[in-house]
Amino acid sequence: MQKSTENMLASYVDALHPIIYVNHFDFVVIDEMLRKIGNGVKFVEYNNALGIIDFDTKSPQMECTLEQFLKLVLDNGYEHETFIVLKDVHKELEDTKVIALLKRIAEDNLYRDDYHTTVFIISATTVIPHELENYITVFELPLPEEREIISIIKDFARDLEISISDNVLNNIALSFKGLNEFQIKQILNLAYQDGGYIDEDDKLLILKEKEQFIKKSGMLEIVNFRETIDDIGGLENLKDWLQRKAKVFSNLDSAMKFGVDVPKGIMIIGMPGCGKSLTAKATASLFEIPLVRLDVGRLLGKYVGESEQNMRKALKLSEAISPCVLWIDEIEKAFAGVGTDGGGSDVTTRLFGQFLTWMQEKENTVFIVATANDISRMPPEFLRKGRFDELFFVDLPNGEERRKIIDIHLKKRKKWNKDIDSIALIKETEGFNGADLEAVVKDTIERAYIEGIDTISTDDLIKSIRDTKSISSTLKEKIAQIKDTISKIDIKPASKADGRG
Ligand code: ATP
Repeated sequence: MQKSTENMLASYVDALHPIIYVNHFDFVVIDEMLRKIGNGVKFVEYNNALGIIDFDTKSPQMECTLEQFLKLVLDNGYEHETFIVLKDVHKELEDTKVIALLKRIAEDNLYRDDYHTTVFIISATTVIPHELENYITVFELPLPEEREIISIIKDFARDLEISISDNVLNNIALSFKGLNEFQIKQILNLAYQDGGYIDEDDKLLILKEKEQFIKKSGMLEIVNFRETIDDIGGLENLKDWLQRKAKVFSNLDSAMKFGVDVPKGIMIIGMPGCGKSLTAKATASLFEIPLVRLDVGRLLGKYVGESEQNMRKALKLSEAISPCVLWIDEIEKAFAGVGTDGGGSDVTTRLFGQFLTWMQEKENTVFIVATANDISRMPPEFLRKGRFDELFFVDLPNGEERRKIIDIHLKKRKKWNKDIDSIALIKETEGFNGADLEAVVKDTIERAYIEGIDTISTDDLIKSIRDTKSISSTLKEKIAQIKDTISKIDIKPASKADGRG
């Protein structure tokens, strides 16, 4: 455990923060910390499932309610400095009597010179009753940095008397970024049990397990993908831009020394099915870093402050995993309603503000890729230059782009041949998006298979094209609306101009 973390907790106690909410699931780790900072202090403990607990031996003493327990220990602080340790009591924090008792303890601690009691609430779920907002300080344990991860692995190896080479050590330490001490030890145990040693091959296991932990946290999702920049047909301006940023990203150290700013991220706005998600994946592959998706809707909680807390955790987790691409899909849905009146949208407005501040101030290597269709309801602050490095508009593919997209999908399925007349296809596919074109290729190949045709011809493709309803016909109004909104903002086209229409 980091020394500075303990010091920080101790300084909260010294500064009379009466209720400290420790947001953590691992009681053993927290107990150890409290023991260190509470030298000579009287400990009393209550656990939601077991009632009163002996803090030292952990043996249950008596079953009772939290209210009864608090009444019992309320006045201890006059005789000795006391730490009241409450575990997993977040549900009880909705009880008005419990709230009143905690408030009384907090006020006595603050205003009475002869009373010294600090309450520690330890739970993986944060519930802050409105009435106690001013008395509660939320304390979160920072995730271990690389240096600390290395020492956790070294301790582990020493305990089991196994040797790990420096090379392996440094290599696997990086893969553990974003996990806490407990999780790191769990994975090390698993890797050790697998073969009785830890080596480079365990990296895969670590990454798999890490994915599980991150998934379970419910805040972020690691996205697996195979797509590269070569899978994108067209969008040449956007691809050139990304390629330039990739140069900076893969030489960050020297670029920063030279005076280059760390790339912050891009916003890609545009027509559905035209390669926005594809670009998010290709960015991660180009930068050679993991792709992590943030779903803002999943951060919304039902308690006061819970959503903001979740957002903070998610952003912190992304920093811990960094360098990474943080992909926020359909960002317009996440932050729709910002600035309007009403209960739900208040929370969204706060989350939005929190996210903007983080983006504005961030100096880390989390590269944001935000994607959106309809930005007519997006708060204008979001689109202001300076938040993102650049805003790109992805339009329906032009003629040359349609040709390239068809080629890419034919080649992917090993069905491309030089006799296919691209120019004829360009004329036939006016108004098609990338997803339509992919569907045309798939359909043609399936038909050819069923009909026993080996080589795809232009006519085969045209037949499928004519059977496909393009997005321009099915989503006519939506497309017109997107175009209208885009015409009003300063945004770069993702595609290079094309003469063929
Ligand atoms: P939405 O707004 O509906 O989420 P999107 O712009 O994110 O759409 P993608 O998911 O990237 O669209 O594209 C859907 C599919 O269409 C992709 O899997 C890809 O196969 C194909 N596609 C779209 N655009 C292109 C393109 N420019 N080049 C190659 N394939 C493309």
